[in-house]
Amino acid sequence: MPDTPLDPVVEKRLRGIRLARRIYVPRTLGLLVGGLCIGSALHELPTPTWAWALWAIQILFWSHLAYWRARYHVSPYHAERQNLGADSLLGGFWMAAMHFNILPTVVVLTMISLDNIAVGGKSMALRGLGLLAAGALIGMWLIVPGVPDIVPSASVLLGSLPMIVVYPLAVGYITYLQARRLNRQKNTLMELSRSDGLTGLFNRRFWEAQVASNLLSGSSATIALLDLDHFKRINDEHGHGVGDQTLRKLASLLRQSFGDDVLLGRYGGEEFGLLMPSTTLDQATVAIHQFQQRLRNHAPPFSLSRMPTCSIGLAAKDPLMMNHEQWLLRADQALYAAKHAGRNRICIHDASTSQTGPHLG
Ligand code: GH3
Ligand code: MG
Ligand code: MG
Repeated sequence: MPDTPLDPVVEKRLRGIRLARRIYVPRTLGLLVGGLCIGSALHELPTPTWAWALWAIQILFWSHLAYWRARYHVSPYHAERQNLGADSLLGGFWMAAMHFNILPTVVVLTMISLDNIAVGGKSMALRGLGLLAAGALIGMWLIVPGVPDIVPSASVLLGSLPMIVVYPLAVGYITYLQARRLNRQKNTLMELSRSDGLTGLFNRRFWEAQVASNLLSGSSATIALLDLDHFKRINDEHGHGVGDQTLRKLASLLRQSFGDDVLLGRYGGEEFGLLMPSTTLDQATVAIHQFQQRLRNHAPPFSLSRMPTCSIGLAAKDPLMMNHEQWLLRADQALYAAKHAGRNRICIHDASTSQTGPHLG
């Protein structure tokens, strides 16, 4: 998926080409089984040679020509709508050429309407019906039809069966594949909307929403705000690229150190948030200490001699808190105290005194 949105004109063109591609296979198949259905009726009638020639050309070439036309048209979407219009017009013509033999006529009418509804809903279906009627009038003018056959002959019945059975199954299967693809795209978009592009951790909006919803649950929980110390120096001395690598390294160490139960988010530039559900302040403090030890020994990006240290502020959930912002504020105050006390340490917000106290770093 591209990072930047496409030019709307290009996007529209691609949408049209995708539509044409989506229709190509069912149209090719529909022409083959539909051609058999129509042919079985035509061969029982005094069908002129030119009509047989048109029948053969449509079956053999139309779907490829329609796709090619849409693919290279200035507006592929409009070209494909016109192609679908041509499908309807030709369908109407064949209905008249079959002298409105009931079974194949109903089959052609239904399958073409199915295509139209699938692509453009009610309005497209109505437009399609109009074009089917126009095609039928042209057919009636060119081939004066006799009285329609109500009871289909055995060959017409056999010729119509593949269209009745195969085509709806194929359209159903293609619709299923498309629904599955859309579902995958939806999941990818949801994933992207939750995550931070650089580190792959949750982004701030999503992470904060988890903090807010956790506040509503009864169990204990602790949040930690972690900020890298003197990170600006890394950027200044080694460049932004090394800074980015450091952030990614830290994110992957966070992932390795805390299981899926801890929700990790990128809270700001070089600031990270940890939401530790069902974790008391003491348990969180132990886990954060261990993380600091691991950070000390963690391999830095190539150009650095060691990973930067970090300062961390911890705050436990307090039922008296009005909202999650208050919880974050407490962790932020603790982080500020850790910075103020000389960095590379953990500070804990004390809920009983509403004060922050330094802890061994
Ligand atoms: P302190 O110990 O007080 O936290 O100092 P610091 O240098 O870490 O903090 P400061 O707020 O002065 O600088 C943070 C720097 O983080 C500045 C900014 O350019 C950098 N930064 C923010 N986001 C990114 C990013 O995505 N990539 C890189 N490479 N740098 C970033
Ligand atoms: Mg910093
Ligand atoms: Mg910062």
